[in-house]
Formats: sequence, structure tokens, C-alpha cells
Amino acid sequence: MEKPMSKKILVLGSSNIDLILKIPRFHHPGETIMAEDLETVFGGKGANQAIAAKRLGGKVGFITKLGDDHYGQTYRWYLIKNGFNPKWILKDKEVPTGMAFIELNPHGENRIVVSSGANGAISKKEIKKLGPSWKGINVFVTQLEIPLPAVQMGLRIARDLGALTLLNPSPPAQLSPNIFSWIDFLVPNEWEAQLLTGIRMRGKEDIRKMGERLLDMGVKNVVITLGPQGLFLINEDEEIWMDAFRVKAVDTTAAGDAFMGALACGLSEKKPLREALRFANGAGALATTELGAQPSLPSEKEVEAFISKMKPE
Ligand code: ADP
Repeated sequence: MEKPMSKKILVLGSSNIDLILKIPRFHHPGETIMAEDLETVFGGKGANQAIAAKRLGGKVGFITKLGDDHYGQTYRWYLIKNGFNPKWILKDKEVPTGMAFIELNPHGENRIVVSSGANGAISKKEIKKLGPSWKGINVFVTQLEIPLPAVQMGLRIARDLGALTLLNPSPPAQLSPNIFSWIDFLVPNEWEAQLLTGIRMRGKEDIRKMGERLLDMGVKNVVITLGPQGLFLINEDEEIWMDAFRVKAVDTTAAGDAFMGALACGLSEKKPLREALRFANGAGALATTELGAQPSLPSEKEVEAFISKMKPE
């Protein structure tokens, strides 16, 4: 029997299988080279953020779509094993599971090709149909690796339920003006903030300008993540600059996803804003200290222990 909706955080987004190919160098058109190693891992921004929030102690639901293929079946099994409701793991009979082909050279540089597959087939209609089962959520999280109409429908339903809405505008895309007024927390990185605002980033003052521009567009809170520089938050009443925690970063993949998952947890627990941001800042920093996306996502205990031994921001 299906359990009643007891989830507090709902993540709507992508699931990709990441095929990571370690290659000796980036090769030329027409050339074939041998990979030194192949690793297959679970990825996609939606799944990363859902798993991040769950590891950080959130009660999390996750709506995503997989293909009806071997990768889709494996991913479905993995999500169910992680405690996600199978009813929300949609299946597409026509298109394959989303895949990311990641080439890594010995300098740590990458080239990535993404095939959206089933992620690109999530429709507005499907999301609308699921809406009635969302009762009880207080935080809604989404990104842009699924079609915009589905994202917009999700934001609208969540708003109507009185949940806080978080959008991570990644990968960056042109958004219709009305979407901004449905967003409580817009969380771009610097690059995404530049693209959304058209403001070129030359210094700290430009980051503030981007935040102000996004507030003018109708967003309630803007959190610009600044990688090793930390973050900047702006809303109508306050402005917070928070330095990043100093860590030895080995791989920054999924730092942003850990940050989003943690921010969602902090807000769903109704932590004061500064505390929720510090928690997210800690989760983002810890995610850079290990290789890979989902394997590097820290637990609630790890983040609590880490931020309590660091000096307060
Ligand atoms: P994205 O991965 O989406 O590009 P960022 O690179 O801005 O996002 O990282 C998100 C957050 O992760 C930052 O705001 C910060 O909290 C943390 N973070 C990222 N890189 C580092 C780093 N080198 N050292 C410490 N914290 C980091």
C-alpha cells in the first residue's frame, strides 16, 4: 500500500547515468583512442540534489523519469534502495535513460556530452497529474535539466501549496519573465547569474548588481554560489557575504548539488537563514574533498561536525 505523503522536501529533476572515460588526451575528429578506464556512476542534478538532501537528514521525495532499458532498471532499483517512492520514478517506453559521457584527461580537464533521454520527456501534464500527491511538502527544489514547462508547472503547484520554492538554474537557459515571481530562492553560480542578468562579472560589486537585478525580476531571495569564494545572498531586507570554508578540494563535481540539498534541508527545518546558508556552505565544501558526484555527498553528521569545528562566518 502506498504510504501517505509524509515528505517535507520534494525534488523534481533529472537522473543521468554518468559514463566517465579516463583518456590520455582529447583526441582529434576522426581519430579513435583507447580509454584507460571506464566508470559508470549514478548522476544527474535532480538525483544528486535529492540524494544530498536525504543524506543530510531531510525527508525527501524525488520525481524523475528513466527509460525502459537496462540503465533505467538499475537506476530505479538504486533509487528505491535509497528510500524513494517508486510511484514517482516515471518510466518512458520510447526514449532511453539520460546519459552523460564524460571524458577526463590527465590534467583533470573534462569534456561532457549529455543525452537528456527520458529527462527530456517529462511533461507538464505528468507533473500536473502528480500534483495532488504533494500535500505536506514545505520545500520544493528543481533545476533545468528537464523541460521548462515541467519546471514551471512544478513551481506553480508548489507555490499554491504554500511550499518554499528553490530553483537552481542549471544548466543555464532563457527563462520566461513570469517564472521569477514563483521563486523564493534562486540559486545560480556566478556563471549562471551572468547569463540570467546579462551583467559581466568583473568584481564583487557586479555580484551585488546581479543579485539586485534578479530581485527586480521578481525573485524573493537570490543566493549566488561563488565556488572557493563562498556565497552571496540578497533579499529585500538583507545582504550576506559568506566566505567558503577552507578545504583541500580534489574534485568540485556536485559541490553545487550538495549546497542545494543542504539549503533545502536547512530551510525545511526552519533554520534561521544565516544558519541554513552556513550548513549549505559546509556541505558544498565537504563535497569537494572527495572524488565523484554522489559518492562525495556528505552526511548530516559530517557537515555538523565540520562546521562546528570551523570558525563562525
Ligand atoms: P557549482 O558546482 O554549481 O558551479 P560552486 O562552484 O559555486 O557551484 O560551488 C557551490 C558551493 O560549494 C560554494 O558556494 C561553496 O559553498 C562550495 N564550494 C565549492 N568549491 C569550493 C572550494 N574549492 N572550497 C570550499 N568550498 C567550495
